[in-house]
Amino acid sequence: MDKIIYMDHAATTYIKEEVLNEMYPYFKKYYGNPSSQYSISMNSRMAIELAKEKISKGLNCTPEEIYIVSGASEADNWAIKGFALANRCKGNHIITTKIEHEAVLNSCRYLEDIGFDITYLPVDNKGFIKLEDLKKSIRNDTILVSIMFANNEIGTIEPVGEIGRICRENNIVFHTDAVQAFCKIPIDVKKMNIQMASLSAHKIYGPKGIGALYIKKGIKIHSLIHGGAQERGKRAGTENVPLVVGFGKAVELGLDCMEEESIRLSRLRDELIDKLSEIEKVEINGPLGENRLPNNVNVSFPGIHGEDLVFLLDREGICVSSGSACQASAMEPSHVLLALGLDKKIAKSSIRLTLGYTTTKEDIYYVVDKLKEIVQKVRKSNKEMQN
Ligand code: PLP
Repeated sequence: MDKIIYMDHAATTYIKEEVLNEMYPYFKKYYGNPSSQYSISMNSRMAIELAKEKISKGLNCTPEEIYIVSGASEADNWAIKGFALANRCKGNHIITTKIEHEAVLNSCRYLEDIGFDITYLPVDNKGFIKLEDLKKSIRNDTILVSIMFANNEIGTIEPVGEIGRICRENNIVFHTDAVQAFCKIPIDVKKMNIQMASLSAHKIYGPKGIGALYIKKGIKIHSLIHGGAQERGKRAGTENVPLVVGFGKAVELGLDCMEEESIRLSRLRDELIDKLSEIEKVEINGPLGENRLPNNVNVSFPGIHGEDLVFLLDREGICVSSGSACQASAMEPSHVLLALGLDKKIAKSSIRLTLGYTTTKEDIYYVVDKLKEIVQKVRKSNKEMQN
């Protein structure tokens, strides 16, 4: 197959050339352990500090508030379990939503197993939480609210500023999984009153296996990985310097083009939604317009399995997903789509297309044409089988 059209940037992204070039010397030349004393180690240590500085700019926090971890799954686990365990004496109630990533949901389920009480807020049919629901669910023993910045399946951008305000008024710590929003839309942890935020490099053209947790100065949190004194004694293990350097560079490049790329992608997204809507019996899932991530489209084709579409598109060199990457192997319908109120069959007939840096208008047209052909063929053969 000569041409691959990659439309699954929410699952992961390729590494930008500049990112790879920046990482390279830290594999070969500056391989010293950042905790050692000689000069090649000093280079490693300084590279980590520089990367943290770059990452912190994407959140408007200080570099000292950035803790490097292995990815957003670890960041979510640490934020939720580490905070809960360190603050149990203040209360054992946590509020989250039904549409979080599994890293958040399963961390919360683990805490339930050891005696914490979790409220899973519902969402409306576009994926937004209702602020009234949040206010009503706050109790005297609520210690933490964990609500994602933007949803990875349907692109809904939650009212994070308002959530932060409610948390501040009630003296509750606010964690957000900002993986899909980071470097796509502006995030300001100060203005939005966010005390912890999870980030991942491989969603923003950086390497896999590296991420960060922002922890506001003064927040009490238990370590989950015990050992040496790395990450200011909070997260042990020799730092993976090349990956940290790559993460920093990816953030730098991402922030540089965020504004214009967001406008370009929003236009492509809306064009894709318009073109898809021309296909008979399609349903677009999630909100339209500015409260949706600029690169996300999620669509149901009633009567056709999403997984079949993924397979048939793959044969044409087009990469999309049904549900999120973490869920894609499971045969269950997406918990996010079910939370919107979609019935199981419609939820299972959905695919997600997520655009990125190299996506062009031609790609959009090509994908829609192929989808039209495939959907028509599958519907025709389904009909023939029924007769
Ligand atoms: N949170 C969200 C919203 C995600 O989309 C993902 C990745 O799919 C994760 C967390 C997990 O990130 P990582 O792959 O870095 O562990």
